[in-house]
Amino acid sequence: LVERMRGFGTTIFAEMSALAVATGAINLGQGFPDEDGPAGVLERAVEAVRGGGNQYPPGIGVPELRQAVAEQRLARYGQAYDPDTEVLVTVGATEAIASAVLALTEPGDEVIAFEPFYDSYAATVALAGARIVPVTLRPEAGRFTFDPAELRAAVTPRTRIVLVNSPHNPCGTVFTGEELRAVAEVCVEHGLTAVTDEVYEYLTFDDAVHLPLAAFPGMRERTVAISSAGKTFSVTGWKTGWICAPEPYIRAVRTVKQFLTYVGAAPWQLAAAHGLRHELAWVEGLRGALQAKRDRLSAGLESAGFTVHRPQGTYFVQADVSPLGHRDGAELARALPALAGVVCIPTQVFYADPARGRRYVRFAFCKRDEVIDEAVERLRGGL
Ligand code: PMP
Ligand code: GLN
Repeated sequence: LVERMRGFGTTIFAEMSALAVATGAINLGQGFPDEDGPAGVLERAVEAVRGGGNQYPPGIGVPELRQAVAEQRLARYGQAYDPDTEVLVTVGATEAIASAVLALTEPGDEVIAFEPFYDSYAATVALAGARIVPVTLRPEAGRFTFDPAELRAAVTPRTRIVLVNSPHNPCGTVFTGEELRAVAEVCVEHGLTAVTDEVYEYLTFDDAVHLPLAAFPGMRERTVAISSAGKTFSVTGWKTGWICAPEPYIRAVRTVKQFLTYVGAAPWQLAAAHGLRHELAWVEGLRGALQAKRDRLSAGLESAGFTVHRPQGTYFVQADVSPLGHRDGAELARALPALAGVVCIPTQVFYADPARGRRYVRFAFCKRDEVIDEAVERLRGGL
């Protein structure tokens, strides 16, 4: 293994899901729903397979999905993209992020990311030979946020990209207009590209609203906006994502993407297009159900002794293990299947310096109510 990838080993999601299988513990670690997405979307995939949609799709993605994505960005955010030149279909958001970073950074360049960050970010930046520069999100009145002065201080002449994930995994923060304006100002002032990971764009709670960074002044022309079907339609195994960006960015990213995977699987693209066009009412139902599950799991974790940072979006909750008398979330996470029959994710692996996230673990609540209740029962009895 090349030196720059040493230290990445097995992903924490694979490790913790394997632990859940081996111990029979309830898996609130890796984020995947335990119920299927809308029947219409599943049907459309079956139809696509049966109807001969099984050969290579076009390199930029099937026209139906590019069109549906362009319509969705316009209807939901008032952002117009040309489906033929400004939309690119990818193998999930993961490939979109990787091909964007690989296409837009030279070795030695720097990528700013809000820490804790989704695990693929650091590995992808390392693969590009670039350097990830963290700006830490810290709890303020229970909500994780950043200090704009720290963001400004993180910029150097080598900075190329600011990677922005909102709604944020694992903190659950939905960046406000004020926070996004601060990011936009830094990008414009220093001529930086923003790569936005918006995979949880529909999963927001209470009065939190997802705002696309590309809609802020000066940002449309410097933003690579990424989303995917996995979370929106509860089909995380389909790995179908997309990028909306100005044509020169799409051309650059596509140059890389075509040699990573060439294209993504065709049937899921047709089904994702169907979802964006016809199943957003179902997604609204999912959003409401997840909000109730957020409250259910948060209250349960609190009753088991954790300090909980209630998320404004996503399907994860950050919990602080220190009130339970534990200093290290990773130690607790690895002991938890034996102690209580529950699996969670030690969030410290999402920090450039694990010490900064030592006290946190993440629980997923995209699970049936009875599963959440049983997990809470076990935690209350086992800790
Ligand atoms: N970004 C974030 C923040 C995620 O949580 C995930 C995965 N769940 C992804 C990207 C990857 O999305 P996909 O499965 O579409 O590659
Ligand atoms: N995004 C999901 C999570 O954060 C899982 C992704 C994965 O397994 N790579 O749990």
